[in-house]
Amino acid sequence: TLTRATVTAWLMRFGATVRSVEPELTALDQQAGDGDFGANLATGMDGVRRALESLSAAPTVGEDTAATPLAAAAGVFLDDVGGTSGPLFGLLFQELADAVAAAAPTPPGTGELAAGIAAGTAAIQRVGEAEVGDKTMIDALLPAAKALADCPPTADPSRSLRLAAVAAHRGARATAYLRARRGRASYTGDHAVGVPDPGALAVALLFASADGELT
Ligand code: ADP
Ligand code: MG
Ligand code: MG
Repeated sequence: TLTRATVTAWLMRFGATVRSVEPELTALDQQAGDGDFGANLATGMDGVRRALESLSAAPTVGEDTAATPLAAAAGVFLDDVGGTSGPLFGLLFQELADAVAAAAPTPPGTGELAAGIAAGTAAIQRVGEAEVGDKTMIDALLPAAKALADCPPTADPSRSLRLAAVAAHRGARATAYLRARRGRASYTGDHAVGVPDPGALAVALLFASADGELT
C-alpha cells in the first residue's frame, strides 16, 4: 500500500541507491555531458533524506498522507538542486504528489501512480521538449508510464512499480545506442554512442527502489 511510511521508505531506499552508484552516474555524465549528474542527484537525495527525517521527527499536524514525502522531495529538487535534471526530477515528484493527494479520502494506489507518472512525464516534456529516442530520462519515463497505464488501477502498487521498473530499465539500456538530441550530451556527438543516459538509468532506479518497500 501507499502510505506516508511506505513512500518515505521508498524515497530513502532510492537515496541510498543513488549514493552507492553516484560514481557510475558521474562517469556516464563525464562521457556524455559535463560530469555533474551524479553529484546533482546525490545532493538532491541527501536533501530529501534530511527533509524526511525532520518530517518524521515533527509531530504530525493535519495531513498525514502518502503525498507528504513526495511533496517534500519535490520542494527540495525544485528549490535547491542544480543542473538540468534537478528541476525535472522536481516536476516528476510534484506531479506524483499531486496525483497521490487527489485520491483522498480513498487510499492511493496504482491508478494514482499511473496518473502521476504520466503527468510528470508530460510536464518534463513541456519544459524540456524531449521525445523518446532523444537519449534523456524520457526514454525511461515514457515506457514506465505506459506500463503503469496498462496495469488495472486496483493492482497492487508494488507489482505495478516492479513492471514500471522493468520497462524503464529496458528503455534506459536502449539509450546507449542513441545519439543525444537534447541536453549537454547532444554537444558530444558520437562520443556518447555506447554510453547509456544517466538520467534514464536514475529513473529506472527510482522505480526499482520501491520494490519491497510498499508492503
Ligand atoms: P546538465 O546537463 O545541466 O549538467 P544534469 O547533468 O543535471 O544536467 O542532468 C543530465 C540529465 O538530464 C541527462 O542524463 C538527461 O537524462 C536529462 N536531460 C537533459 N536534457 C533533458 C531534456 N531536455 N528533457 C529531459 N531530460 C533531459
Ligand atoms: Mg551534467
Ligand atoms: Mg551541469
